[in-house]
Amino acid sequence: MAEVRLIDVREEILAENRQEAGDIRARLERHGVFMLNLMSSPGSGKTSLILRTIGELKKTVRIAVIEGDIDAMVDAERVAREGIPAVQIRTGGACHLDAPMIAAALRELDLAVLDCIIIENVGNLVCPAEFDTGAARRAVILSVPEGDDKPLKYPLIFSVSDLLVINKIDYLEGSDFDLDALRERALRLNPRIRILPLSCRTGEGISPWIDWLRGEIENVRRT
Ligand code: MG
Ligand code: ZN
Repeated sequence: MAEVRLIDVREEILAENRQEAGDIRARLERHGVFMLNLMSSPGSGKTSLILRTIGELKKTVRIAVIEGDIDAMVDAERVAREGIPAVQIRTGGACHLDAPMIAAALRELDLAVLDCIIIENVGNLVCPAEFDTGAARRAVILSVPEGDDKPLKYPLIFSVSDLLVINKIDYLEGSDFDLDALRERALRLNPRIRILPLSCRTGEGISPWIDWLRGEIENVRRT
């Protein structure tokens, strides 16, 4: 019987991705640019949070946005309307962004005139968690209508994120969403995750988010 050879393509892809992500991280560090990878399900409020953040920071921080969408340009156009450089990655069916896509997007941006890049990843709680994009920090958004059991169903994304934003807390009242249970589930997976409940609609809780982001930007900024 002939020998069976196994090639683990998946592991190979992830290893190549890690390498490229490391290169990106080093390059951004040299330029003093902070990059955040923002992940969530569709409809949790990634674009809303980005637009809020731009409103709060654009006078003092030079921001650009990289938008990942399977086929649409809508979110990138909304960002560009705010006068912020936006690069749209059309993934053509891929359900996550990877480091080579981010490297291509970065070629469209002038790092010398930026302090912060926010990546809006493709709306998906599964594979975006597996692919390092080269961002310095990862944040996951979970919105109240999605329910408090998501860490049980998608543990990896909560394990790899530095920050958990709980959006749409204006829906808490009258819902059976258990904020304490969610905290406990997230912290069990990742004891160092920061948890920030907020509402992009009402503005409640936005300040601690902006403070966190500003702190991260100041840490890497070179002026
Ligand atoms: Mg969006
Ligand atoms: Zn995917």
